[in-house]
Amino acid sequence: MRRLKRLETRLRRLRNRAAPLLYRGDAFHCPVCAGSFGKFRAAGRRRERRPDAVCPRCASRERDRLAFLFLRQTPPAGRVLHMAPEPCLRSRLRELAPGGYVSADLLRRDVDERADLGALPHADATFGGVYCSHVLQDVRDDIAAMAEVFRVLAPGGWAVLNVPVKAAKTTNHPDAPLRGRPQGDPRPPEHLRTYGPDFAERMASVGFRVRVVAAGDLATPDEQRRLGIASAAAGAIHFGVKP
Ligand SMILES: [Zn+2]
Repeated sequence: MRRLKRLETRLRRLRNRAAPLLYRGDAFHCPVCAGSFGKFRAAGRRRERRPDAVCPRCASRERDRLAFLFLRQTPPAGRVLHMAPEPCLRSRLRELAPGGYVSADLLRRDVDERADLGALPHADATFGGVYCSHVLQDVRDDIAAMAEVFRVLAPGGWAVLNVPVKAAKTTNHPDAPLRGRPQGDPRPPEHLRTYGPDFAERMASVGFRVRVVAAGDLATPDEQRRLGIASAAAGAIHFGVKP
């Protein structure tokens, strides 16, 4: 197992070293690392395969690039809390947050603090921004978690609480096993909830003024293709402001 892991690491290093040659070109542009490439890496398996999905340099996905495009235009006024941090967005969010940056996760060790979204260890009105993407579908009480995010935000502060929206209406799956799995766990993801577009109303129910931003609100169809945010995999940004 360890030998397989070492081989995998070696192959990844080799691929990264070859990336400038393999992906040379200008047809695609990643706003997260500002790199231009002939193509992006494909992701997903079989029927879920997404061509031109992942940046070969910073590994941003469609949804990361869409979120960063938006956040670049909407920098936070204060300190930022980045829950379950995407590696490609960490340094970029840090740069955008003049008031400071904290990364947190329930289980991961590569973060500034361990924190449970349902009971954040921060005082009221501590942050100017909270970024938490693709986490709430695995949280047992998502409304309570969103109320926690609302509580730790200062008035005027914002939260980006993105989730996969895959159904006509939000449905709970209370029997799904709790996610919270260690990194590298090979079991398939089991979500506690499938969200519908009514997620925006759930977010508003804890007090947020909500705006749903899609790729078409930020870029022309040609730009969307070049930035790799034209497909449904980019999702939409659920942006909430604390009045
Ligand atoms: Zn990139």
